[in-house]
Amino acid sequence: MAQARIGLIGLGTMGAALALNIAEKGFPIAVWNRTTEVTRRFAAEAGPLAPRVIPAGTLEALVAAIARPRTIILMVPAGEAVDAQLDALAPLLEADDLVIDAGNADFHDTNRRDEAGLPFRFLGMGISGGEEGARHGPAIMGGGAAADWDRVAPVMTAIAARAEDGAPCAARMGDAGAGHFVKMVHNGIEYADMQMIAEVYGLMRDGMGLEATAISRIFEGWNGGILSSYLVEISAAVTAARDPHTGAAMPDVILDRAGQKGTGRWTAIEAQHLLAPIPVIEAAVMARNVSARLDERDAGQARFGAGAGPCALEPAALEQALIAGKILCYAQGFAMIGAASDSFGWTLDLPQIARVWRAGCIIRSTMLNDMAEALAEDPGRNLILAPFFAELIDRAMPALRQVVSQGIAAGHPLPALASGLMWFDMMRTARGTANLIQAQRDFFGAHGFERLDGIADRHGPWGGTD
Ligand code: NDP
Repeated sequence: MAQARIGLIGLGTMGAALALNIAEKGFPIAVWNRTTEVTRRFAAEAGPLAPRVIPAGTLEALVAAIARPRTIILMVPAGEAVDAQLDALAPLLEADDLVIDAGNADFHDTNRRDEAGLPFRFLGMGISGGEEGARHGPAIMGGGAAADWDRVAPVMTAIAARAEDGAPCAARMGDAGAGHFVKMVHNGIEYADMQMIAEVYGLMRDGMGLEATAISRIFEGWNGGILSSYLVEISAAVTAARDPHTGAAMPDVILDRAGQKGTGRWTAIEAQHLLAPIPVIEAAVMARNVSARLDERDAGQARFGAGAGPCALEPAALEQALIAGKILCYAQGFAMIGAASDSFGWTLDLPQIARVWRAGCIIRSTMLNDMAEALAEDPGRNLILAPFFAELIDRAMPALRQVVSQGIAAGHPLPALASGLMWFDMMRTARGTANLIQAQRDFFGAHGFERLDGIADRHGPWGGTD
């Protein structure tokens, strides 16, 4: 059999889908899985793609099956499994071979591996789109040396999703951990997007008393407008679906405890390190954590009574609120990426990131086209100040304010939407209240402050000194 163009380790959900995608695009691929039976079954079930799939029973056989210089994709759980595989490959590979960690690695780990001086070339790669994306076209965010990316770019651009203009959603983001960093922020935004949709769902269900099918039709309508996106589309689909066991609407039979694998939390933690405000994402992470505390929430309801009461809102206002919330959330996410770029010396290309997210990934949406354009006009400007988005905000903000204030007055938890609004109001307040914080800090810690009038006195008359 002809030598493989590329190899892949880990034929789980993502690895299997990615391997078939690669084979389908014409690249012979050698595959190995820790559990040998999985490799055998994968090859047996590859159907018409089988001639381009080379199953390997051992790591040595995998390495031997790949044309030099070799490229091997790792698709195993992040963390120890990646380190174990890198260790196992070390004695088998040559200096010019390339290993790509395509799992959801913590970007700090990718940086560490990059700096550790592995005995082969190394790329960290974020892949988004779930199983379906991996099979038919994911968004791909690469990190590492440009020459290494260039080597695999023909494969990556061939298997990636394509935006409406035909551009492949695959690009090198920057050095080392940059690809996994961008993927991490993507996931943080994903948490926030999902949470805001869930909040308006809650207002419709508990405040407006709408049944799931009615909510589905509203989501479907929104998906035809500026909110057109994968997450709104699947929200329409899941609210329309009926439970085959009971006939009830599917969301009504699902426990309201949200799981997480940690990338949203990583985003929130990293934002704190970077001093980058991302309150909508932080609120979404917090909301998942609160959702997990079922017993406490039960006790809370028993003691204080259920919060969410009737709330007279129009779907059009909710749509506008979601538009505003989404813009604010993305503005925060892109600003965080900008902060990381400065802090880590990565020169991350914000418009390119928006373009890569336009298709294939979970947060794909029509609005990302406009974001890419707005960021290209001036990557250093906050997205809310781009004329296109400033005008959208002008139109949508009254609705966000109305939805949040009415919803909160009626007892609905709206952490993400409200956090967006709070951030926006701070962002448009030229003279805020940190003057008082500074006075307090000087009072108790003699930290000093800057004066508005230029007088050269950094302390108040309360005894603080330099
Ligand atoms: P799965 O659990 O479906 O598959 C894991 C694979 O890794 C299996 O092939 C398993 O082999 C192998 N594996 C596990 N531990 C080891 C180890 N110690 N050494 C060697 N191989 C090992 O995971 P997914 O495919 O869902 O995820 C893979 C990576 O992709 C993860 O980093 C995940 O976060 C990321 N990812 C997942 C997405 C998704 O939607 N599922 C989306 C984007 C990224 P075995 O058969 O022997 O158990």
